[in-house]
Amino acid sequence: MINLSILGSTGSIGTQTLELVDYYKDNINVVAITGNNNIDLLEKQIIKYKPKICAVMNKEKYEILKNRISSKTKLRYGLEGLKEAASYPEADIVLTAVSGMIGLEPTIEAIKSKKKIALANKETLVTGGSIIKKLIDEYNVDLLPVDSEHSAIFQCLQGNRPKDIKKIILTASGGPFFGKDYDFLKNVTVDEALKHPNWSMGKKITVDSSTLMNKGLEMIEACWLFDISYKDIDIVVHPESIVHSAVEFKDSSVIAQMGLPDMKLPIQYALFYPDRKENNLESLNLFKIKQLNFHKPDMNTFKCLNLAYKAISIGGTMPTVLNAANEIAVAKFLNKEIKFLNIADYIEKLMEQHSPFEVNSLEDILYVKKWTEKKFTELI
Ligand code: NDP
Ligand code: MG
Repeated sequence: MINLSILGSTGSIGTQTLELVDYYKDNINVVAITGNNNIDLLEKQIIKYKPKICAVMNKEKYEILKNRISSKTKLRYGLEGLKEAASYPEADIVLTAVSGMIGLEPTIEAIKSKKKIALANKETLVTGGSIIKKLIDEYNVDLLPVDSEHSAIFQCLQGNRPKDIKKIILTASGGPFFGKDYDFLKNVTVDEALKHPNWSMGKKITVDSSTLMNKGLEMIEACWLFDISYKDIDIVVHPESIVHSAVEFKDSSVIAQMGLPDMKLPIQYALFYPDRKENNLESLNLFKIKQLNFHKPDMNTFKCLNLAYKAISIGGTMPTVLNAANEIAVAKFLNKEIKFLNIADYIEKLMEQHSPFEVNSLEDILYVKKWTEKKFTELI
């Protein structure tokens, strides 16, 4: 029986994880859940899954929920609450599926409590990769990728040695604006950016997919997860999202992982690793698919991807600036305060203003996050 803590249980990854809990009810027990604003759903989840603890980030929402529930579930709030859910003694695995770099500190807490980590929250590795890697070694815990591409790479590496990797082929759907030019992108709307062709996800990552920042963040995530240089990662646009990524080995053999796009597969692979469990997911029918296509990403039009390469090549605190600026810019785009193309413009300006330094502690990252927020306000 897995005792599971889900950080971000009200989100897209969180709710799909709970669907898996329903399916494998004899194998998974939910001990902790967390949310931010969606207390209606948290209330339902508390009633259904009876977790030992539930943390609500938003304090006002926490107060409302507190007055509504009468169960034995401990209710906590704020970042401290999230950390408590992440380090809850009875949890074996912590699935980190909050959106944004707010996931970093609870993940650190989970590692220090020797939990197995199923990592969906890519912003954690983009900003805190160096610290997380050190802690993973120090506390000797498993870090299992949930992001579909990284799960694919991890699956391709089974039975192989990381030292035999020649390169990683990281696939990208291309998002809703694949093939569009700069002029087209000038006036795209929030609704258009939120129409992802293949995946149904939270709003922030969906916008990131439309700017290709998501692939940039994933490229950085892959560097940390697989100890590989960004120079050895090829990004390939594959609009069908069937090949979830591939690894080329020294002998030029390429192993890819395929399947219909459904996040439940990488989630369950991380939870049950190394077991492969039967499920009710649809099988891949290659006769129905017929064709798989592959294209070079357009890094001039989709500047965010270029900026991500720039950030990782500079290293140190620069990826944190990239990520923090992106989080603010995407929130402002979703709020209709800035235009689609401004997202990259603001990130670029902040990266130009930043003097990067080596990341030695969590404090360094939090300092740079604050710096980015302050500078962003000054820019706007
Ligand atoms: P969603 O927006 O659907 O869900 C985010 C979750 O985090 C919700 O539970 C939300 O709470 C909570 N949350 C949001 N902001 C905060 C905050 N400031 N403090 C605490 N909790 C917060 O996102 P997704 O599920 O799509 O994505 C989650 C993570 O997984 C992201 O890092 C994303 O990049 C990654 N990922 C997602 C994939 C997907 O298919 N969705 C695929 C691969 C990776 P509430 O709803 O209560 O406000
Ligand atoms: Mg992904």
